Amino acid sequence: MVPTDGAVAGLLEKVSSALPGGGEHRPGQLEMSERVRAAIDERRHLVVQAGTGTGKSLAYLLAAVQSGRRVVVATATKALQDQLAEKDLPFLAGQPGPRSGFTFAVLKGRSNYLCLQRAAEMEGRGADRQLFEDTTSDDPRKGSDPEGINLGRFGSELRRILEWSEHSASGDRAELDFEPHPKAWAALSVGARECPGAFRCPSGPVCFAERARALAAGSDIVIVNTHLYATHVASDGAVLPDHEVVVFDEAHAVEDVMTSGLGLELAAGRLRAIGVSARGVLGRDDATVVDAVAEVADQLDEVLRPLVGLRVLADGGNSAGEVARVLGLARSRVEALVGRLRRSDADGEADEDGRRPRTLLAAGHLLDDLAKLEAAGEDDVAWVEGAGPSGRLPTLRMAPIEIGPVLAERLWPRVTAVLTSATVPPLLEKTLGLPGSTTDRVDVGSPFPFESCALLYCPTDLPDRRSPGADEAVQRELHGLIAAAGGRTLALFTSWRAMLAAVEALRPALDFAVLAQNDLPKSKLLEAFRAEESSCLFATMSFWQGVDVPGATLSVVAIDRLPFPRPDDPLLEARRHRAGEGAFRTVDLPRAATLLAQGAGRLIRSSSDRGLVAVLDRRLATAGYGRLLRAALPPMPLTTKRQEAMSFLGATRASASDGHAR
Ligand code: SF4
Repeated sequence: MVPTDGAVAGLLEKVSSALPGGGEHRPGQLEMSERVRAAIDERRHLVVQAGTGTGKSLAYLLAAVQSGRRVVVATATKALQDQLAEKDLPFLAGQPGPRSGFTFAVLKGRSNYLCLQRAAEMEGRGADRQLFEDTTSDDPRKGSDPEGINLGRFGSELRRILEWSEHSASGDRAELDFEPHPKAWAALSVGARECPGAFRCPSGPVCFAERARALAAGSDIVIVNTHLYATHVASDGAVLPDHEVVVFDEAHAVEDVMTSGLGLELAAGRLRAIGVSARGVLGRDDATVVDAVAEVADQLDEVLRPLVGLRVLADGGNSAGEVARVLGLARSRVEALVGRLRRSDADGEADEDGRRPRTLLAAGHLLDDLAKLEAAGEDDVAWVEGAGPSGRLPTLRMAPIEIGPVLAERLWPRVTAVLTSATVPPLLEKTLGLPGSTTDRVDVGSPFPFESCALLYCPTDLPDRRSPGADEAVQRELHGLIAAAGGRTLALFTSWRAMLAAVEALRPALDFAVLAQNDLPKSKLLEAFRAEESSCLFATMSFWQGVDVPGATLSVVAIDRLPFPRPDDPLLEARRHRAGEGAFRTVDLPRAATLLAQGAGRLIRSSSDRGLVAVLDRRLATAGYGRLLRAALPPMPLTTKRQEAMSFLGATRASASDGHAR
């Protein structure tokens, strides 16, 4: 059961102190580790809120290792996945102890590994097709892959990838020393929907993806991303090795990632790719059956394009019949194509590079998805999203309105789950369908003294955020805060429009550099922000999470308005409709609370940090629901008085200068 001999405490202390930023006393870490271990032993689900600085990954990893069970750890971001695989687990593995010989592996989705079968097919064609010559030619016979991708521009990239694959041990794209163009990588990889499996693939015995699966199947701890875990659930357990325990870190993202993974998407490109792939198998003699698939792909594009942003099928009003008609047509044409491919197989027609089973598999998955779309019922929502650089390539998406019932049936009875985050959404257990009788929740707090090192400021004399002149008032307030803090501000906006307006108004008015999200890629922007202590960074939604800037560079996090979700989001619209009168409290408020806490959580990143969170939307202090939003934030004292905020910033600035002087 739960170890009480001090061994865990000793090990945690040792491990924590040896890691970057370590050496601090982390009271919540031991509690968390023991609770996770108890949950695993007693087979009870556990939700753990663990504030920034707890050291939660080491807490659950240690419990997982000591349990002796196979544990899958699912993370929402690559940064955390890298931290677990490259720092925390190697470190734990090097510690002496009863389970020091444990093993771990990272497992990614199939398309992350080079497909040796596709590589072999391409190498076989390379010599005569000038495939590896860079060319800008539009001539499809020059440098073009027969599965439909014009590769003329990527010849040298393909050659580099193939050369790398000859000595790579993993075939993992992340190990390439350059970032290939997505089209070049797509030509040398396959998704799970196209791979016929090792037994039916000529390259199966040496396949990189299969090797990674085998490695994972022999490991005690398997690290995956949450999306791969969602495909595991959607496939009824076919993707990951058997395991008794799953830990979802960054649990605030689980609902959205599961919704996406348990749903499906269909764009015309998928039909076209199958058509082109089939043409490579059947040759030009069977053009009619292939052309029919390409033609219905055009029809799908046409019917979806005016519906971007709208719900379709069951709730699509007049459009429902038209979309359903095209989907029905697509199904019958793909069925005809599948029939023809099967006959070519039965007749023993040539398929030298084994592309037929891949095409049949992809077509089979497409037929499954078309059938699901046609059968969309009252528990599903279907809508059209814009994709591509111009947002004009329409994609039809479908998802369950609620994922709780799906997970309650397919997941929670089979594994013990630990879900953890610095900001656990208020209704997480209900949203995810966790069974009340076997689920516990614990908040192990944060090691940082928020009561003394941080202040929450919400000026109530600002105009209503929806009234004219509100943007200008927010900009004036922001100007005052930045001046008082000596720059050092991360300003988080809920829209590009508001961010760009603030940059335009404040850049010329401030004595400090103002970096904006559209200036540089995210990593470069954060580098520049860290490098110049007095600089400010203005950004939108993708900076509300995952930004880690400890020290005096960041003394103010300013938030322009409460981050309520858009009222016209089709999926949330369906959820609100289902929730009825309680929709605001069950759909909108928990999302806003979690995102607000994520944004505010950028401020205090180490025990010596000090600073102010300014929420420039008076509803946080004045609205009835403001109390619920404030409860989701770290325990900072609240002030609505400008003078108090300015004095606090003055003191923060002085202590930063003292720090430099010492
Ligand atoms: S088993 Fe699948 S991923 Fe592996 S080489 Fe064959 S087709 Fe590619």
